[in-house]
Amino acid sequence: MNEFVPGHIARLAAYEPGRSAEQVARELGLDRIVKLASNERSSGASPRAIEAAIAALSQTHLYPDGTYEGLRAALAERLGVSADEVVVGNGSNELIELAFRTFTTPRDHVVFADPSFAIYRVVSDSFGIAYSAVPMRDGFLYDVPAMLRSVRPETRLVLVATPNNPTGTYLPRQDLETLLRGLPEHVVPVVDEAYFEFYDADDAVDAMTLRALHPNLLVLRTFSKAYGLAALRVGYGVGPAALVGLMQRVRPPFNVNRVAEAAACAALDDAPHLAAYLALNRVERSRVSGALARLGFAPVASQANFVLVGRFASGRSLFEALMKRGVIVRPMHGVLSDYVRITIGTPEANDVMLSVIADEGARLVRPRTEL
Ligand code: PMP
Repeated sequence: MNEFVPGHIARLAAYEPGRSAEQVARELGLDRIVKLASNERSSGASPRAIEAAIAALSQTHLYPDGTYEGLRAALAERLGVSADEVVVGNGSNELIELAFRTFTTPRDHVVFADPSFAIYRVVSDSFGIAYSAVPMRDGFLYDVPAMLRSVRPETRLVLVATPNNPTGTYLPRQDLETLLRGLPEHVVPVVDEAYFEFYDADDAVDAMTLRALHPNLLVLRTFSKAYGLAALRVGYGVGPAALVGLMQRVRPPFNVNRVAEAAACAALDDAPHLAAYLALNRVERSRVSGALARLGFAPVASQANFVLVGRFASGRSLFEALMKRGVIVRPMHGVLSDYVRITIGTPEANDVMLSVIADEGARLVRPRTEL
């Protein structure tokens, strides 16, 4: 079969998504599963969003408004931009792909950091586009000068996730400003703020406020994380109207479904529900990180709703040991093979995870002397 597809497709490795709770429960015959693998909002979506989604179900025989005027206007108002600067996607994942489809050809080149969101590499490979994956500095910090040095005449996209997945680290204001100022005009800087809402560092910056620093800046966000609408798939991008207009031409028709659009609009209106989760996440992130450090592990300081935890002899063995006990975390690969990524859940879920790690993790930890 491989001879029927281009070489870059034949060589693709499948992306491994987080295992679903249903899958693991079925396979292992467990009835209590704690899933902390995909950075979901484990306390669920706003009841108002769910109500709006249910109401929209009565109209499933009708296509949604193909221009998404309602959602785009609501976002534009909130963000202080105009609706023609907003494009919506089937999750921000689709917008990443849409940026590749709109702005690149297979002769081009893109830049992102390593480790960063695995999909940047997957999408580059699926489009057969050359990339520079620029190693992060010690402590998983972005190496902005190295990223700028890797830009070539044929570079079209520079993708930065901040806060970054899977590290939880971020680009402080000054570094993001340096990056945007330093990128030439033939590049579209894509600042992926999927975890933007979770920021609490003093020197973190809303990339939307830096739009004057680069004429092509595209900022991506999502309803999947802080708003708890991961299953419905809604993300959005904000950029200059001309650039967004090009993406709108390439965007598949009706790419966000009617139920998702209704839920996203209602979720935007439920500010207290969002605020309650962000406050709880902050408290739990610090509690979980502290507890893991006391157990001898090495949690990386995070600005998101997950924490990357290292110093295991093998992250994969820990992942497997925890899964047998009904706790699903995310194993990592490559340079991160002795790490796992753990989503911050409800206090109850975190307690279960911490007690199972205390039992199982101790024998899998790598002693400090080996580091
Ligand atoms: N960007 C980053 C950095 C992510 O971690 C994710 C989800 N894992 C996404 C984008 C895509 O999220 P979604 O498609 O659900 O909006």
